[in-house]
Amino acid sequence: MIDELAALPGIGNKSAQRLAFYIIGMSPERVERLSNAIVDARRNVHYCKVCQNLTDAEICPICGNPERDHSTIMVVENPRDLAAYEKTGKYKGTYHVLHGAISPMLGIGPDDIKLKELLKRLEDNTVKEVIIATNSSLEGETTAMYISKLLKPLGIRVTRIASGVPVGGDLEYIDEVTLLRALEGRTEI
Ligand SMILES: [Zn+2]
Repeated sequence: MIDELAALPGIGNKSAQRLAFYIIGMSPERVERLSNAIVDARRNVHYCKVCQNLTDAEICPICGNPERDHSTIMVVENPRDLAAYEKTGKYKGTYHVLHGAISPMLGIGPDDIKLKELLKRLEDNTVKEVIIATNSSLEGETTAMYISKLLKPLGIRVTRIASGVPVGGDLEYIDEVTLLRALEGRTEI
C-alpha cells in the first residue's frame, strides 16, 4: 500500500506511510467506501460528449445547463483549468477541454489534442466567441495561435485571456482575482 500511495503525484514516502497507517486504523466499512469510490470513479468517469470535460454522465452538467451561454466557449488545456475558472463563479459560458497543448518539441500535434471536437461544435454557427485560455507557456501560446488561425476564416470572434497570468504558470495555481482580471481583459487575436 505504501508503494502504491507513494507513486501518486505529490505524495512522498513519508506521506504515503502516514496515509497507510491511517487507512489501517480506519473501520473496514470506511476502507471499503473509499476503495469503492476510487474504483467507481475510474470506471464511470469519461469525457463529456460535447466539451470533453470529465463527467460520469453522457453530457456534463455545464453543457447540459440551459442557463449557461452556449454561444461562448472557453478553451482550456485540462479539467483542472476548467475547475479553476468554474470556482470563480463568474463565467457563464461553456468550455472546451483540449487535454493537452501543441508541442512540436514533444511531438504533440493538433491531432493529439481535442481540437477536432472543438471544430465540430462550431459547425452549426451558434457559437459567437471562442475565448482561448490556454496557459501562457510556449505550448499554450503555440496552441492559441494555431486555434486563432483556424477559426478566423469561420467568422468567429477569437479572443485570448490577458497576460497577467505569470509566464509558464499553470492556470490552476492562479488566484480567482487574477483569473477574472485575465478574462475581463481578454483581447481579440
Ligand atoms: Zn460538457
